[in-house]
Amino acid sequence: MSKQDIYVRVKWLMIAASMPFYLFGSFWGGIKPPAVYAIGFLFLISFINNLILQLFAKRKFADYFIYWTLMIDAALSIQAVYFSGSIETGLIFLPSIFIFISGFIFSPMATIFYGLSMFLAMVSTFYMEYFGYIPHFGHSIKFASEYLWMQVPFFMDILAGIFMLYMFSAFASGYLNQIVKENLIRMKNSVREMNNAKKMSDEANLALTKSKEELEKSEQMRVRELVELRASLEQKMLLRTVELEENRRAILHMMKDLKDDVNKMQELDRMKDEFISNVSHELRTPLTPLIDYASILAEGLVGSANEKQKEIYNSMLRLSKREVILINSLLEVSHLKSGSMAINKVPLELKQIVVDAVKDFTKEAGDRKINLSAEENGNIPTVMGDENLIARLVSQLISNALKFTPEAGWIRVKVFVENNHVRVEIEDNGIGIAKENINKIFHKFYQVDSGYSRKYGGMGLGLAICQQIVSLHNGKIWVESPGLGKGAKFVFALPI
Ligand code: ADP
Repeated sequence: MSKQDIYVRVKWLMIAASMPFYLFGSFWGGIKPPAVYAIGFLFLISFINNLILQLFAKRKFADYFIYWTLMIDAALSIQAVYFSGSIETGLIFLPSIFIFISGFIFSPMATIFYGLSMFLAMVSTFYMEYFGYIPHFGHSIKFASEYLWMQVPFFMDILAGIFMLYMFSAFASGYLNQIVKENLIRMKNSVREMNNAKKMSDEANLALTKSKEELEKSEQMRVRELVELRASLEQKMLLRTVELEENRRAILHMMKDLKDDVNKMQELDRMKDEFISNVSHELRTPLTPLIDYASILAEGLVGSANEKQKEIYNSMLRLSKREVILINSLLEVSHLKSGSMAINKVPLELKQIVVDAVKDFTKEAGDRKINLSAEENGNIPTVMGDENLIARLVSQLISNALKFTPEAGWIRVKVFVENNHVRVEIEDNGIGIAKENINKIFHKFYQVDSGYSRKYGGMGLGLAICQQIVSLHNGKIWVESPGLGKGAKFVFALPI
């Protein structure tokens, strides 16, 4: 509430409250005509001033107009007091109202000053009447003497009362105003704080809304990204699946081709074996009589032959016999492979077979100063096998060792048991085998080096025959060699 508001309201209240007294005093009371006009004039001016203040409360000049009004009111109230009986009238309380109001408009000191000024103005009016400078307008109290007011004690009492009344008004108004001001300031502060808090909460709300929106936006983006990622992954997976399916089909196709090829090769191999077998057979048939004829000629049973002729016949005999051995080997391989060879499995003493075979080669080894020895460890159990084939196997391996071991070398044959198998090892310190050839030497017709082969003779069939024999007995055969020139160890194992 502004100063004007307070002032205007208090004055309306004052005017309204004073009106009945004024009317009562003017018509029935003792208020004399000059006082009636003066007070009426005071009401009118007060009323107009109040109206102006109310109507123009928002205007700048209203602030100054208050001071003007207050001054006018003060002057008019003194005039009203004067015309209504001065020191004798009850209206002397009237200025205290303006003093009280001034507390809301001026500072406390200014209010006291205002109160004092009012008092002095009042006192000077009274004294001017007292000393006869201005006329006295008589009192309204019928029962009192006309000159009572001129008595000094009465005068002093009234003055002291007026002084106290005005000062009390000034102090009360200043004090009240102070309280009101403080409360107003406090209220203003709390309103400001509330406004600040509201502003802050509004800002926080705004920030919250903003961050919520941002969060929603980023969430939407993430969701979109994820959806895209999933779609691309699915597409990739689909592509991969298609590729894999194609690869699978291609592999299946290749496997089928390979299988066909293997089948074809197996068929060709079988046809080749059959062909070799037939050819060998056909080749061997005329060789037997040829050998017979050559030996008849060499022995001179159909007429004597000279030395030159004998030599030729013997040569024919030797070559034919070698051819027969070769053809027999060929036939042996194909028989073994095709399974057409009748095998007769019986319990075999491998130790005995090895000892016999070593014996067969003792002379040849001795001739070449090769140390051929047999060695067996402990009790060797029997194995099921075809005696001729196993003997052939051992002989072939010893014969190879002899063939590929230089003079003054050694060959050791061992028989022993390991992992439920009887093992036979034929070890020599001969020419050895290079690593890359170790897996090839068991192939048919394979010879490590044709130079060597020519030097040592042979057809590359011996080891192939050995392998066939071992596999017919469900055994295993392999070779170990540290390398060329470092000897070789052929091992075969037959299940007990
Ligand atoms: P070949 O009739 O040529 O001896 P094999 O099948 O018996 O045929 O042997 C195949 C090849 O294995 C031989 O040519 C030889 O190179 C190699 N070989 C076999 N036994 C031995 C050995 N004890 N030491 C070194 N090489 C050997």
